[in-house]
Amino acid sequence: MLESKDQIIQLGKILRLEQARGFDDGATPDGLERYLTGWRMDANGALQYPPVQQTLELLAGYGVFDETTRRARVGIALDSLRALFRPAPTPAVAAVKLPKQTQNSKLKTQNSSAAVPAAPMTLDTPLDQLPGIGKVTAQSFKRLGVRTVIDMLYHFPHRYDDYSSQKKIGNLEIGAIETVIATVTDVRTFGMKSGGQALEVLVSDESGDLKAVFFRQPWLARQFNVGARIVLSGKVTLDSFKGQRQISAPEWEPFTDDELIHTGRLVPVHSLTKGLYERNARSIIKRVVDLAAPMVTDYLPEIVRQRANLMPLQQALVQMHFPADKEQVERARRRLGFDEFLFIQLGVLQRKLLWQGERGYALDFQESVHEDFLAKLPFDLTGAQVRALEEIFQDIRRPMPMARLLQGDVGSGKTAVAAATAMQAIANGYQAAIMAPTEILAEQHYKGLKELLTKIRVRRGATKDEGRTTEEAEQGEPSSSVVRPSSGDWKSNADPAELARLDDLKRLIGMLPEDDMDGLGVRVALLKGSLGAKERRRVLEGIANGDVDLIIGTHALITESVRYAALGLVVVDEQHRFGVEQRQRLKDKGFNPHMLVMTATPIPRTLTLTIYGDLDTSVLDELPPGRQEIKTRWIVSAERDKAYKHLRREVSRGRQAFVVCPLVDESEKVDLPSAEEMYVKLGSEVFPDLRVALIHGKMPPRDKDEVMVAFRAHEFDILVATAVIEVGIDVPNATTMLIEGAERFGLAQLHQFRGRVGRGIHQSFCILVSDKENDVTKQRLEAMEQTRDGFRLAEIDLELRGPGEFFGTRQSGTPDLKVAQLADTRLLHAANLEARAILTDDPKLEHPEHAALKAKVEAFWAETSKVG
Ligand code: ADP
Ligand code: MG
Repeated sequence: MLESKDQIIQLGKILRLEQARGFDDGATPDGLERYLTGWRMDANGALQYPPVQQTLELLAGYGVFDETTRRARVGIALDSLRALFRPAPTPAVAAVKLPKQTQNSKLKTQNSSAAVPAAPMTLDTPLDQLPGIGKVTAQSFKRLGVRTVIDMLYHFPHRYDDYSSQKKIGNLEIGAIETVIATVTDVRTFGMKSGGQALEVLVSDESGDLKAVFFRQPWLARQFNVGARIVLSGKVTLDSFKGQRQISAPEWEPFTDDELIHTGRLVPVHSLTKGLYERNARSIIKRVVDLAAPMVTDYLPEIVRQRANLMPLQQALVQMHFPADKEQVERARRRLGFDEFLFIQLGVLQRKLLWQGERGYALDFQESVHEDFLAKLPFDLTGAQVRALEEIFQDIRRPMPMARLLQGDVGSGKTAVAAATAMQAIANGYQAAIMAPTEILAEQHYKGLKELLTKIRVRRGATKDEGRTTEEAEQGEPSSSVVRPSSGDWKSNADPAELARLDDLKRLIGMLPEDDMDGLGVRVALLKGSLGAKERRRVLEGIANGDVDLIIGTHALITESVRYAALGLVVVDEQHRFGVEQRQRLKDKGFNPHMLVMTATPIPRTLTLTIYGDLDTSVLDELPPGRQEIKTRWIVSAERDKAYKHLRREVSRGRQAFVVCPLVDESEKVDLPSAEEMYVKLGSEVFPDLRVALIHGKMPPRDKDEVMVAFRAHEFDILVATAVIEVGIDVPNATTMLIEGAERFGLAQLHQFRGRVGRGIHQSFCILVSDKENDVTKQRLEAMEQTRDGFRLAEIDLELRGPGEFFGTRQSGTPDLKVAQLADTRLLHAANLEARAILTDDPKLEHPEHAALKAKVEAFWAETSKVG
């Protein structure tokens, strides 16, 4: 029975009354729910007007809503019902009935039978313009990121319930998930002890009887008619009283000629959101997939599809949603996963071609400079460092820009490799820039490298070497308008008293260069945000006219309008904080420098290939000799006292300790102390007799610098810190790293923190405090206790938490993989091979047969760089 306009007006009146009564569920004698149930049953899935259907959806469960929900939903329902009586803007979109609902027949027949043709659907049609999908439902899908038809095609189920085993009732197995097709013989409702109503539907086939039980859905009662054939899927159990077989809360649907949607097959299960119910969502998706999948064009060239043995796209989409069987799901996944990998591979390989497509600077290897460098280094290079340098030196001799990733665990000595590389660029008359993720790290690089490199002679006289850059060679005299202060220190404008104090400290810890080579050594400058305007200009001029050889700073080095005289090498420290666009920007400045990207985040191999597929890779897989294993323990907060005893013992032995606190939101303050609070607590309650300091990200860089220098000089025993100490800072006397709220950090990050200790000769410790005892946390923290291999830890974290969490929200450029599994290296390699094959013929994807693919790749990367 279909609803008449009079009935709808009546419904509207009742809702208005409910409003007037203040939503007390008293507008009808037995409550709204019961009243609407009547509607639902009368219509039996065949409602004519979407707003009515919507109203029923919205108000299902009205009896248990709180007042706010009631108010909101009744309001929406009334609005949409009223819209029915307004003149429709265009006849095409006004309440077109879906043939599926009225005729209960296959969708394929719809075109011929639809009385009012809707605007033709395309893949980009917004969901709320589709007949039969109400505003509310469309809104709910939108919350899931599904706005259009194509979005819905790619909104895959997160699992499938296997209801494919169909049996006769007599053969049902107790405990198994089964499906039966049977005839309804009786329908009964009864009250449950817990309150609410249960519904028993008795069904039978020629082999026996079965009882289906539904809870708290009284309106279902009238959907089952005695004599009707229905399909039931669910778990078969034994009724404890009568020993009768039953099936509780099964999925069900009427048995028709239609393809089964909710039962009797692999049934897709989706992630849902408020206002969206599984059955409803599934039915809508089914309709859309049936109509839209055939409209999709397969962007994969036929030859690639055949070589890689892949299913056609349309078929894969259908099988992902409503698979024929498990094997088909796997094949569909393989096809769509391949595509994702292929987009990534095409993107990164194209970038690599682009990066290396133009001429770079072929450097002459300056052996004497390298030997001088080695002689001045206070240690011998490790085998791994030597190997990495060999690879790098090969690269920079070529007339194309190097694009190399140097991966090495914390403390593996990446800086020395960077310095040796920079020396080669500088010895060839170019400038080198080192970019650090934070100012504090930039300053540490600056101090360390300046000390080392000013000792290395790169000039023969007090003026520059001849032939530094072609322009300058032509100009003859160096164009220096900058009077450099002695020893090339660009920070001369600071408050003299403060500088003297810092210098004292530096001298104390051996950070001042012992000899000044009268400017014959490498000239190093630090460009940082806190420079005064005048100093800043001076540094910038030095960079622009070639008076500076090595520039150290943060991203500002390329994002700001820094002009270089002859930039030949860029070193990027800690790549995971560094986007792709920044790299491009360098090129846009007219330089094709060699690029060395360094990261201590151990990146699992698959991820390297996916995200950094545009980089060649060197790995420092060997730590410098004499490093000790850091004893790591996970404790709960109740054991904190023990940890404090340990800290005290270490301090009494003359050692120092870090205490790291996660960043906390205001709302979480109850459970987790912030670094500031921890600092107060430790300094005044726990260790009033010890020297406790605080460092956090919001402090001005100069203050941070001062705290770090003082801590290094052992003016403090305990340093309380936020994640700012994650990278780089070297304090060999620190032996304990205590991390609060450890579960909040990624394993790679915890591993980095841990790498802050164990840098000297003393046994070192890492204590992880966490009370979160769920399985994943347990596995992760136990992994920290047992494993010191950063790569292994990264893989574990990736497995346990997936790539998004692995990188944290700040990471941009992490591909959003919906289907592909990063662990599927075989598929990744297949995609890699095909990407290479495609680009060999058509590096810019300009051939007409690649047009669709090109668009897809671009869309994929646009989406990817939006993240983070
Ligand atoms: P990371 O790879 O974490 O950046 P660093 O470059 O900061 O590591 O090096 C960590 C420490 O190890 C520094 O104190 C550095 O001087 C020292 N170091 C680097 N290479 C060697 C080596 N071959 N032998 C001994 N110590 C080394
Ligand atoms: Mg480093």
